[in-house]
Amino acid sequence: MRTFSTTMLTLTMTGLLAVPAVAAAQGATPRARPQDTEVWEPVPKVVTPGATSSEAPSDAIVLFDGHNLDQWVEVKDHAPAQWTVADGIMTVNKAAGSIETKQHFHNYQIHLEWRIPTNITGTDQARGNSGLFLASTGQGDAGYELQILDSYNNKTYVNGQAGSVYKQYPPLVNANRKPGEWQTYDVAWTAPTFNADGSLKTPAYVTAFFNGVLIQNHVELKGETLYIGKPFYKAFDGAPIKLQAHGDKSEPISFRNIWVRELP
Ligand code: MG
Repeated sequence: MRTFSTTMLTLTMTGLLAVPAVAAAQGATPRARPQDTEVWEPVPKVVTPGATSSEAPSDAIVLFDGHNLDQWVEVKDHAPAQWTVADGIMTVNKAAGSIETKQHFHNYQIHLEWRIPTNITGTDQARGNSGLFLASTGQGDAGYELQILDSYNNKTYVNGQAGSVYKQYPPLVNANRKPGEWQTYDVAWTAPTFNADGSLKTPAYVTAFFNGVLIQNHVELKGETLYIGKPFYKAFDGAPIKLQAHGDKSEPISFRNIWVRELP
């Protein structure tokens, strides 16, 4: 007893006795060490960021660098894209129609810059309407659209203003710059997945920053973004990225500096 008491006294005084008691209460093992929860492999690969947050990092696929539309085709017939390229920017050719990437993507991060012309006219949805389709699933406007529109000072339904997931989610805030200024979209797209029978396995998610401001925070999509009717999913596996040539009569908008990083 004498020996036991001395040991107990020593443990209590050094505080060691208290540690196992607390650890046991929390469900951890008495021998848990900080090293037990350290992960050392695999090491994330090195990516060199661009000089600015707008510039493509080293592992990006550049979709438009200001020189040509080699990465793009027309949606309607997959002929070479016929939008105007000049002075390092591309401008919508409404007669030629929407364009999409040759390459198909699953999950990715995209950076894109767009500009409403200073002489923009029109109102509501007919004022600089375009769109970034995060997955183009067919002709026309089929797919999943992050709306592009002049929403600097232009009233429309809020789930159709710039930065909305069209007719599903209004942007959290209105972060528009005025016509004539370049604006940025930085988006994380998680593609929906489907079971063998075509039923939905996991939904699509969108996180988006507009001019650096968070406007969509991991929203769960309800299906494709439809002009009329309630959204629903149609199975696909990998899809191009589409830029919309909208049928409104307002002056065409421009794009520059478009790159994408594929994600696991
Ligand atoms: Mg649109």
